[in-house]
Amino acid sequence: MDKITADTPASLQTRGHIATEGQRAIDALKQRAAEWDVPCDISENVAIFCVWNCEARLTRQDETVDIALTAPDRRLLLTLQGSLADLFEEQKLTVSWDDVAEGALAPGLSLMRVRSVCRRSPGFLRVSVEADDAARFSRGGLHFRLLLPPKNRKPVWPRINASGRTIWPDGDDTLHKPVYTTVKQAGTVLDFDIFRHAGSPTSDWAESEPIGQTVGIMGPGGGSCPPGQPLYLFGDETALPAISRMLSLAEGPVHAFVRSAPEDLCELLDDPRVSRVDDLLAALEATPSDHGGFTWFAAHAEAARKARLLLSGRGLTKRDFTAAAYWS
Ligand SMILES: Cc1cc2nc3c(=O)[nH]c(=O)nc-3n(C[C@H](O)[C@H](O)[C@H](O)COP(=O)(O)OP(=O)(O)OC[C@H]3O[C@@H](n4cnc5c(N)ncnc54)[C@H](O)[C@@H]3O)c2cc1C
Repeated sequence: MDKITADTPASLQTRGHIATEGQRAIDALKQRAAEWDVPCDISENVAIFCVWNCEARLTRQDETVDIALTAPDRRLLLTLQGSLADLFEEQKLTVSWDDVAEGALAPGLSLMRVRSVCRRSPGFLRVSVEADDAARFSRGGLHFRLLLPPKNRKPVWPRINASGRTIWPDGDDTLHKPVYTTVKQAGTVLDFDIFRHAGSPTSDWAESEPIGQTVGIMGPGGGSCPPGQPLYLFGDETALPAISRMLSLAEGPVHAFVRSAPEDLCELLDDPRVSRVDDLLAALEATPSDHGGFTWFAAHAEAARKARLLLSGRGLTKRDFTAAAYWS
């Protein structure tokens, strides 16, 4: 079996072992699957848990459990290992892993250098960051977490500990970790757009001339363009970058409703698929309830909650829509 270490190339499997209370480990896995709404197939002594295109297989023999993890890439393997390590630690169960990438940066974390910041439009700042592995953000989810260390402090980045868990800096070293959307990725460069709003530590940071600073970019994560046709998209300023990406990825008809200042729509101003609205929920309510496609809604948490209620009240399920809280 390949070793997972900070220095070796990608490994697609690893194994672990729990020496006592094996049934409790299987019960905990089953409960986690229910919380995450992911499949967990349990036969007499084997539990198979599937998430992120990865598999965790727990095989119980009397009190002991053997764990086998498989994943398409190293980042996902380490992520799965870390989340199971967290789960079993919560249950006070001790796992011995064959291999742990102790000391490595958290799975999916790239350290990138700020290349430029410019005013993309009155309401948005465009930030360009660069690193040799930036291209991995062009695949998979559209989003990432931006990790900003506290001002004037040497950054402490999240790393994997001896149990396989990711340990985040705390106290004076706590990182600010907002989520953003990749708007463009080319070569070693990744661009994202920050909506400028009052009281935003991220906007303040971006406006403080951070050129040359190192930031953490963790991901990619979140969804891509939903497959349904037609696609109805609704979002406020924070969702504008995601809507713009989805408009470029969508293969079928799209109707996008955006709440933002007209001058921030830039090239979308001339896109016949896009309408600017002041009230996203009213626009959602006015759409046909039986369009048969997919509805995507992202805005403030309270608006997302109301959108969810409205859409589930129409008998739609998560196969038909998503309503995401982009800020609260
Ligand atoms: C999947 C996903 C993708 C996202 N993509 C983007 C993106 O590409 N661009 C982008 O700008 N945002 C995006 N967001 C939203 C962004 O993560 C939040 O707005 C986040 O709060 C920004 O952090 P901050 O440092 O500005 O403020 P925070 O430190 O999180 O909050 C500080 C204060 O600002 C308030 N606040 C936060 N957002 C807003 C807002 N939009 N308007 C008014 N007040 C606000 C908070 O309530 C709080 O009081 C995304 C969110 C998600 C979940």
